Amino acid sequence: MVESFDIGIVGGGPAGYTAAIHAGNQGKKVVLFEKDNIGGVCLNRGCIPTKTILHISELFQQIKNAQEFGISAENVDLDWSKVIERKNIVIEKLRKGIELALKNAKVFTIKAQAQIIDNKRIEAEGILYNCDKIICATGSSPKIIKGLEFDHEFLLSSDDILNLKKLPQSILIVGSGAIGIEWARIMSNFGVETTIVELAEHLLPLADVEVSKRIERIFKTQKINFYTQTSIEKIENKSITLSNGEMIKPEIVLVAVGRTLNMTKKIEGVQYIGDVSGEIQLAHFAIKQAIEQIDGINFIKDLTPSVIYGTPEIAWTGKREQDLEPHSYKKHFVLMSALGKAHCDSQTDGFIKILTQNDKIVGAHIVSAEASSLLQQVLIAMQNSISTDKLKEICFAHPTYSEGIFEALFK
Ligand SMILES: Cc1cc2nc3c(=O)[nH]c(=O)nc-3n(C[C@H](O)[C@H](O)[C@H](O)COP(=O)(O)OP(=O)(O)OC[C@H]3O[C@@H](n4cnc5c(N)ncnc54)[C@H](O)[C@@H]3O)c2cc1C
Repeated sequence: MVESFDIGIVGGGPAGYTAAIHAGNQGKKVVLFEKDNIGGVCLNRGCIPTKTILHISELFQQIKNAQEFGISAENVDLDWSKVIERKNIVIEKLRKGIELALKNAKVFTIKAQAQIIDNKRIEAEGILYNCDKIICATGSSPKIIKGLEFDHEFLLSSDDILNLKKLPQSILIVGSGAIGIEWARIMSNFGVETTIVELAEHLLPLADVEVSKRIERIFKTQKINFYTQTSIEKIENKSITLSNGEMIKPEIVLVAVGRTLNMTKKIEGVQYIGDVSGEIQLAHFAIKQAIEQIDGINFIKDLTPSVIYGTPEIAWTGKREQDLEPHSYKKHFVLMSALGKAHCDSQTDGFIKILTQNDKIVGAHIVSAEASSLLQQVLIAMQNSISTDKLKEICFAHPTYSEGIFEALFK
């Protein structure tokens, strides 16, 4: 039996479902294959569940430390099963929304493992699907490294940690990328003794080095332990020896050292979008690639924002200071402690750093409450080549964190 479609898409994560919905809404006959749950890693095992648990951990932390604001709460307790339940409710609600959007776009959604045969044919459960165009959006999975293979009990992946039966007393996190940093914050907020091991010279190795150093300073005050330029030497009976000779005995280990593409071999003529494209592994990048494919709306890949959630947020785009030649750029810098709003909210840790060349912004690096939204304002200016002089003409509301952008421009 053979069925024919305009577009066949394998993978129902942000890349795949966005492409399917947009193509379906254009009146195309679309078939989408998903072997697991619609929403992919982002909704089921990534962005959404981690940010839901992170939010709860911050709430817990705030309630426990509210004395500064004249609020005292005694016997603050945490029901971990409710944390997991809440996470599942959020996922479920959002998944229903995507499923409805697929239905409204008249996408044929098939729950099955699919195989792309060539650039015109997909096979699933013994049925062949002929497609004028094929999109592969099969995403990525936690990377397995030698000596740290997941046993799903002691050595956990970012998938495993989402369904812990109970909170551990202590955790070792291997890797300080976005996933490692966010989980360090979650665990530390919940009062778990948290240690990070990072091979690079600084935490968050992909960030501007001043951002990395600031996060290290903040982690020190938050009593999150970390070792940089350190690796795991050996693991014996749940005892971990580090390359610096130290030995630690965490209750669990989260291994967050990158992701492997879900692809065996590239097939010519097939479009690869999202994580599997091997470019930037972020949900919004996947979504923009899907829209580029289907609607032909291009985007500037170099202006993809990176955000690490938690308190304070960390967000950046464009050039880092270490990418630029000394004396070839201007650095505009303001500390959050200079802003009224930061004091009102007791969120004074961090800074806004804007790098310019010839009066145009080439990079922005923000450590602050609302950094994700602040960065978006700078991105609009960067995308449209708005000069810093033009930006100075804008009236920023007071008291806001946005004022920091305005203040930075005069520095
Ligand atoms: C812990 C964690 C936190 C994250 N937080 C963020 C964040 O805050 N912001 C952000 O932008 N990004 C975040 N990410 C990254 C983000 O989740 C990914 O970039 C995004 O999900 C990629 O989307 P995708 O559609 O390319 O692939 P995926 O989301 O991986 O989806 C691929 C889908 O394809 C399906 N599939 C694979 N092979 C087949 C097959 N042969 N047949 C049928 N179906 C198949 C899979 O089951 C999966 O559902 C996070 C990731 C993790 C792990």
